[in-house]
Amino acid sequence: MKLFDNLLDLLYPPRCAFCHRLLRNSGEGVCKDCLTKLPYTGDCSAQTGLKHIKSCVSPLYYENNVRESLHRFKFGQRTGYAGIYAGFMVKSIDENEISCDIITWAPVSRQRLRSRGYDQSELLGRELSARLGIACMRLLVKQRHTPPQSRTKNAAQRRENVKGAYRCCDPEATRGKKILLVDDIVTSGSTLSECARMLKEAGAAEVSAVTVARKR
Ligand SMILES: [Zn+2]
Repeated sequence: MKLFDNLLDLLYPPRCAFCHRLLRNSGEGVCKDCLTKLPYTGDCSAQTGLKHIKSCVSPLYYENNVRESLHRFKFGQRTGYAGIYAGFMVKSIDENEISCDIITWAPVSRQRLRSRGYDQSELLGRELSARLGIACMRLLVKQRHTPPQSRTKNAAQRRENVKGAYRCCDPEATRGKKILLVDDIVTSGSTLSECARMLKEAGAAEVSAVTVARKR
């Protein structure tokens, strides 16, 4: 498939997932400059104040190149970014000694899935599963379409916006388990907390979370 790969590189030259500049070497996905300069959360990668969640870890801050990259991932069909992000996420998971029995994700609604063609958080969950050797399963469905959280004004509105939007679709697999919940971005944490609340109601022993980025 080398010829095919080369042809693809010619048609779609590999670009850095963050700054979007051309890469000399495909297969890496991130340029050296970004690797050193990305807004890493470092020692602050774990957040513990989110309701129903033991700890939420994120390797990057949601700003500049990271924001633009995630925008292409969510809205620009750059599904291949999932594998690149997962590499950073695994590092945060390891550093914070997050353990789990099952990986799941905060799903998009069926309406959103139809228009976008993929669920970005599911892609992240599957990539993490492959790297950590832990099963990734659908445990939640979004039963109500909600306006994007970015369009809400404050934390109270965000909580209200997602209340009752999710339900656990597999209580049997959830009961007694330590669950790692995956999402792309955490801002106020309302979405993750609401998802975790439903998992706990279905009997989850513990819920931790991981995202690509979080607000500083
Ligand atoms: Zn770059």
